[in-house]
Amino acid sequence: LGRHQNDGRSSSFEYNGVLFSQDSLHVFAGLCAVDTIEHVEIMMKALRAEGQVCTRMGAYKPRTSPYSFQGHGKNCLPYVFDLAGKYGIKVIAMEITHEGHLEEIRTALHQTGNATGVMLQIGTRNTQNFELLKIVGRQQTFPVLIKRGFGITLDESLNAAEYLASEGNRKVIFGLRGMKTNMGDPHRNFVDFAHVPVVKRLTRMPVCIDPSHSVGTRADSPDGILDIMHATAQGVIAGANMILVDFHPVPSKALVDGPQALLMKELPQYLEDIQIAREAY
Ligand code: PEP
Repeated sequence: LGRHQNDGRSSSFEYNGVLFSQDSLHVFAGLCAVDTIEHVEIMMKALRAEGQVCTRMGAYKPRTSPYSFQGHGKNCLPYVFDLAGKYGIKVIAMEITHEGHLEEIRTALHQTGNATGVMLQIGTRNTQNFELLKIVGRQQTFPVLIKRGFGITLDESLNAAEYLASEGNRKVIFGLRGMKTNMGDPHRNFVDFAHVPVVKRLTRMPVCIDPSHSVGTRADSPDGILDIMHATAQGVIAGANMILVDFHPVPSKALVDGPQALLMKELPQYLEDIQIAREAY
């Protein structure tokens, strides 16, 4: 991925007709966790209305507490992929936590038989799960979004990404999602989007930002603009290539991370603001 070769080349790739590079920008707005078919359909319909072809949909959820909802897993894949096909969604970012999930996704995609594709997501808790990284790195079908580890150095996270490439998969995007600090923070994590240009300088990977998991709240500032939007704009102005962001039709009913979800009615303005920020980049 270019860690040790400062030759200025970007590691761009095309997947399912969508081009990812250090120059592109794609928004992956969607459900943090799939809960009902109805919510998946509302989300995808809204994305199509806005001309979007990418989304995020969590089926396998790594939760801090074993008593929290763990995701519908493979049971939701058939309807998620069916609806994606219906609404022209080409790439779904979906976290996996175990090699078995890879096969479940492969099988469900095959059975659904439409043109939807999946970008495998390695979450912050699994950034240094080296055996999982090797397995995901060995397959060439799916591109991978690897999130920065929230409690390790940037260098260690970049080496984790290198595990994917060293096994053969160079279709890798690096995700910034905020860091844990012990200094107290108004946000769920310390927003680290100033590192977008740093990662682009040190590697060839396109860089993703996740304002939802970084900020973790719908708090707004005195100007009435949500902190998530401010963080998004900062990341886009810093050169982000992908935005992973949580929306939900009824956040109070979301089974995971409802308090940080944006509302469906906020989607058009959110996308418009991203374009404005992009022009400022
Ligand atoms: C997520 O994107 O759903 C998620 C759990 O993110 P992270 O791994 O960054 O916590």
